[in-house]
Amino acid sequence: MSGRILVVDDVLANIRLLEARLSAEYYDVIVAGNGPDALRRVAEDAPDIVLLDIMMPGMDGFEVCRRIKSNPATTHIPVIMVTALSEVADRVRGLEAGADDFLTKPVNDMALLARVRSLLRLKMMIDEWRLRERTCSDFGLEDGEATLGADDGRNASVLVAEGNPVVAERISETLGSDGHRVQTVASSIEAAKATRSQQFDLVIISLALDDDHGLRLASQLRAHDETRHIPLLLVVEDSDIAELVRGFDLGVSDYLFRPIDRNELLARTRSQVRRRRFHQRLRSNYERSLTLALIDPLTGIYNRRFLAAHLGTVLQQMHEQGKPVSVVMVDIDHFKAVNDTYGHDAGDEVLRATAQRILANIRSFDMAARLGGEEFVVVMPDTPQEDAMAAAERLRARISETPIATIGGRPIAVTASLGVAASVRGDSSAVLLKRCDQALYGAKRDGRNRVMPGLAIEAAAAERAAKAFAASI
Ligand code: GH3
Ligand code: MG
Ligand code: MG
Repeated sequence: MSGRILVVDDVLANIRLLEARLSAEYYDVIVAGNGPDALRRVAEDAPDIVLLDIMMPGMDGFEVCRRIKSNPATTHIPVIMVTALSEVADRVRGLEAGADDFLTKPVNDMALLARVRSLLRLKMMIDEWRLRERTCSDFGLEDGEATLGADDGRNASVLVAEGNPVVAERISETLGSDGHRVQTVASSIEAAKATRSQQFDLVIISLALDDDHGLRLASQLRAHDETRHIPLLLVVEDSDIAELVRGFDLGVSDYLFRPIDRNELLARTRSQVRRRRFHQRLRSNYERSLTLALIDPLTGIYNRRFLAAHLGTVLQQMHEQGKPVSVVMVDIDHFKAVNDTYGHDAGDEVLRATAQRILANIRSFDMAARLGGEEFVVVMPDTPQEDAMAAAERLRARISETPIATIGGRPIAVTASLGVAASVRGDSSAVLLKRCDQALYGAKRDGRNRVMPGLAIEAAAAERAAKAFAASI
């Protein structure tokens, strides 16, 4: 896994040391000698991780961290504070400034590299969600950017898996005092049961469980879909560096050394909970934007954008299996007259009712979309043109045989014209839709309220040309 790492320190020798270690692992290392320089680098070079010294003249590391974390454009970049300070109070201050971790000098190589790998993985996941969110906002649908700092990280639901009842009780009581809801378990079996029946924002795992090693529980939680994204906080002895490194490689999010410091426990819990909620916001923004981007708001069926993407995929899949795809285009006849006679709202109601009638009369694996205005399309996979013609004829009959809607006590009836076209091997969705549109135009021209088959003009012409060529040699 490659990544760009920004190393910030006012002492050049410290920079060189970290640079050498990280470059040896093929990371792309950039450096800054003071706070303002670091902020510029963060803005211009988009690092994947920042290793940040605390004590620097001018702007100190706490302030640099706060500024990175309060800017929506950089809030997701992991920050590791690296410092000679080993006071718990400073660690807590760093975490409260939004730091993702804290390493003390001299830095243990294994711990540093494991931490970097784990934060890079996390960053890649967040980048992916940010990218999708951007794709959605390219559709013109944005919910405003989420920042990590917007949430206090309290009132979370936490599971504590700890074999020692005294320690479990102390953790539980500390977290309870910060407004968290805590459940404690002593074994990995109980932990697995609890995570299946309830949603947790964080799981704190001790290496010493009654029945198993804590790392195995971590690995199990990472392997299951429902628990894959829950942050895991590992409790280790400071002599357990090797276990900690394995934990990071298994996907543990953070750790605490024993004896557990109360404030550090609270700070790390809050920071993991904030991160978890940030991910959830990114994800739900994305899902909401996606719904908005692909569903027609008036009728609730798919829109033209979804049709374009979906039809391409279906065509490719069916062509690979040598099966035809048919499309049916439905256009309400003289719809303008409905608007003119009954008003625009009545027109809307007719559009909704038509969409519902189409949905009610197609198979479950057919897909209906509103192309725009009073035009709809049905995509029928694995369907030859004769079958699609029969389906279209049934649709035409169902749309016109009873009033489509009743507005202010008045029944409104409409008819529709339909075009049908089946794919020929190699057709693009544009070619297929064009052929279908020509068929629809034919149905309109011949008097409306009818179904017209499309002619495979391009394909037939291509076949004739191929035959003529074969005969000429
Ligand atoms: P034809 O039989 O040739 O299809 O005639 P038509 O009147 O159905 O077709 P035309 O394309 O001339 O008019 C379509 C009308 O649909 C014009 C437009 O104002 C109306 N329309 C488009 N979108 C909506 C909508 O969302 N709601 C309502 N109420 N009307 C719409
Ligand atoms: Mg029309
Ligand atoms: Mg029209």
